[in-house]
Amino acid sequence: MAEKIKIAQYWGAGCGGCDVALLDIDAKILDVHAIAEVVFWPIGFDGKLHEIEQMPDKSITVSFYNGAIRNSENEHVAKVLRQKSVILISFGSCACFGGTPGLGNVTNREEVFQTVYKDTQSTDNKAGVYPQEHTKVPEGELELPRFYDDVKTLDEVVDVDYFMPGCPPTTNLIALAVDVVAKHVTQGAPLPPKGTVIASDKTLCDECNRERVEKNRRIEKIYQSYEIKADPKKCLLDQGIICIGPATRAGCGAMCPNANMPCRGCMGPTKAVTDQGASMLSAVSSLLNITDSESKLNEEQIMEMMMQVKDPLGTFYAFTLPKSPLRRTVKERKRKG
Ligand code: SF4
Ligand code: SF4
Ligand code: SF4
Repeated sequence: MAEKIKIAQYWGAGCGGCDVALLDIDAKILDVHAIAEVVFWPIGFDGKLHEIEQMPDKSITVSFYNGAIRNSENEHVAKVLRQKSVILISFGSCACFGGTPGLGNVTNREEVFQTVYKDTQSTDNKAGVYPQEHTKVPEGELELPRFYDDVKTLDEVVDVDYFMPGCPPTTNLIALAVDVVAKHVTQGAPLPPKGTVIASDKTLCDECNRERVEKNRRIEKIYQSYEIKADPKKCLLDQGIICIGPATRAGCGAMCPNANMPCRGCMGPTKAVTDQGASMLSAVSSLLNITDSESKLNEEQIMEMMMQVKDPLGTFYAFTLPKSPLRRTVKERKRKG
């Protein structure tokens, strides 16, 4: 039997859901077992980083990196895995776009520490003691990773071969990636071009079966999903519920609309769009009759309509703020402030 390939899986700033998703592929895990030996997976078993650091360069065939880059340890492991791996896959929305942790980019390190270690009601820390990178104790010096001022995506710190979006990526996409790698290893089949996004190139609306209004789409009011009982057959956006489907890449099978819930955009922007949030904001504006050149609305009415969108940042940029041009504006503001 041919020697097994080596694979690694690491979590940066993430929730662990991407690690669980890898196990959700059911019997397909046997295909992985047949061709691969897992050499590093901190959440799965007690792999040691220093052992990986001692391996020859490019001796790991595939590394899956999930989670964003929030601290110096995340970045260091990303660089080690890049050096040791032939293929590095940015796995999940946090690694690809910053994901939910990326919303932390509206603030900075100092404010995050103040909120978490001082201001929360469950914390008694009147002296304002914060975690220190270096602490001397009788046994020596303790070291913690440096917590960065903002959240970065994986491809901001290392070269990435493939991107696999989703929060977490769905089992059909993971199974597809396993098939591609298995065929490459066992039959010499070619790999997709570098930079390929392992998902669909269409929009989520293209794979959603709900009925859409085709002409003169208009909505009068925006609802939170809990405020109305949505018709299970009709497009949620047409019913006034913000569904990010028009600005989101397909590939998950429209899982959320199928469960009568709006899409929150976890697959990230489509190929044609760079800023998912701006694209969706523009779609909503046109539905609200705001961007129409014949609009009779005055500024006050426009503001009133847009104010119906609760938490615009969390609605339009729930997964992609670090990838958005808006991030640069926030960084500028932080520098000036
Ligand atoms: S992409 Fe989603 S599931 Fe994966 S680590 Fe981030 S938050 Fe968790
Ligand atoms: S907006 Fe949402 S509900 Fe409407 S078609 Fe697109 S994905 Fe489906
Ligand atoms: S419907 Fe939207 S939020 Fe739900 S899994 Fe698909 S891309 Fe993610």
